[in-house]
Amino acid sequence: MKRNKMVAGNWKMHFGPSKAAEFAEELRINILDTHGVSVILCPPFLALKTVFDVVNGSELKVGAQNMHWEESGAFTGEITAAMIQETGTEYVILGHSERRHVFAESDEWINKKVQRSLKSGLIPILCVGEKIEEREAGETEQVIARQLRDGLKGISASEMETVILAYEPVWAIGTGLTATPEQAIAVHEFIRGALKTLYSEAVAESTWILYGGSVKPDNTQGLLSNKDIDGALVGGASMKLDSFKGIIDAAGAIE
Ligand code: PEP
Repeated sequence: MKRNKMVAGNWKMHFGPSKAAEFAEELRINILDTHGVSVILCPPFLALKTVFDVVNGSELKVGAQNMHWEESGAFTGEITAAMIQETGTEYVILGHSERRHVFAESDEWINKKVQRSLKSGLIPILCVGEKIEEREAGETEQVIARQLRDGLKGISASEMETVILAYEPVWAIGTGLTATPEQAIAVHEFIRGALKTLYSEAVAESTWILYGGSVKPDNTQGLLSNKDIDGALVGGASMKLDSFKGIIDAAGAIE
């Protein structure tokens, strides 16, 4: 099954409301044609509204980087799906490795977030990925299988139509190390196999699975040319016009 490519830019804890809007404007002006690639900008919470106001009406969409699973309550410092949606944001990254490993988010929490995002109408981009010691111990598939099984607990096959997955090997995030196309393809194929077991062939075939981990313009084609890699979740290279545009152009040039 042919799926359009998707490129999401994770700006992490960079750019406040003004700077983010300025950069989004630069992107909007310079990325008039996305060549059919879905492009999502994921600024920090405080910049969601200013970025949405800039890209509203263009091909660029907005995503948040995290959220809480409750609808309200005594959760100091947290933010709900509804608050995110109020800004015009349509997507939310969940289970990013920095959330898992720096902020100790468990699969159970991440699952609650996926459930809430779907109930609220936000499209989740659920990240999975192994640490270097897990890869070296030959545990990559085991880790990914657990993150998928636990992260997608209670999510129905029809809800899976809305879920986007991202395979992000932790050792490749922000390190300049990229998985080779062969390494990435092997895990993407494994994920499709796991989706087939958890759901069905149809779900396995129709789910978008992005790759993330030091994606740059010059490695985009090698990674995204494979039919099982539907796009890229990009950190560092999404924060500069030339490199982000280069990735979108390379993704759009893939037949
Ligand atoms: C990310 O933050 O999800 C990411 C993949 O970062 P980078 O592209 O910088 O490795």
